[in-house]
Amino acid sequence: MKKIGLIGGMSWESTALYYQHINREVSRRRGGLHSAPLHLVSLDFQEIADLQKQGDWARMTEILQTAARQLANSGAEAVLICTNTMHRIAPQVQAATDLPLLHIADATADAVLAAGLSQVALLGTRFTMEQAFMRDHLAARGIQCLVPDEPGRAEVHRIIFEELCRGQVLDASRQSLIAQVQQLAARGAQGVILGCTELTMSLQPGDGGLPGFDTTALHAMAAVDFCLS
Ligand code: GLU
Repeated sequence: MKKIGLIGGMSWESTALYYQHINREVSRRRGGLHSAPLHLVSLDFQEIADLQKQGDWARMTEILQTAARQLANSGAEAVLICTNTMHRIAPQVQAATDLPLLHIADATADAVLAAGLSQVALLGTRFTMEQAFMRDHLAARGIQCLVPDEPGRAEVHRIIFEELCRGQVLDASRQSLIAQVQQLAARGAQGVILGCTELTMSLQPGDGGLPGFDTTALHAMAAVDFCLS
């Protein structure tokens, strides 16, 4: 098996899901006591979240490039950034080593296209919903994204940072997320991308009446495909 390198801790709640998904799938496919050979660099999310607020993407680039180099030096054969938001600097992280970077939007686009969809809702942090990096990557694969209106984006962002990244899953917030999905369905979304790796803690595929695409699970499956290739 090939060694996978994970840059995680953003938040650790979702990195724990990656670890479960990857190992359960390797066990399912390989049987016996097999589990995934992987290396994890787990960052302090408070530091990253503060830099996100300040918009200091240069400093975050340095931190993630250092993490990618640590993974390369430790023998990892591919790198995954275990958050949608930090894919804003995926090209720079990719450039830091010779390792392939398994991009979360590619894993997601493969699943959306396999389902025959071309217009989907994108829920995530403000950075993911408002900046171009994720939407453009998906558009290049022929997928158009719809995002919530301003109050909706504020609410989804709040739920992610104030609750899910702290391990809190509240039913009122789940209902609020479902309402966002329903509004986007009314605007023409054919499916919904859970474009934040913690959203799957609250929203389930199918909630709000749309097929859902769980980026955490899809990205983890791309890691397993690489590991077993
Ligand atoms: N894990 C989240 C994501 O997938 C948010 C945390 C972050 O800002 O990196 O975007």
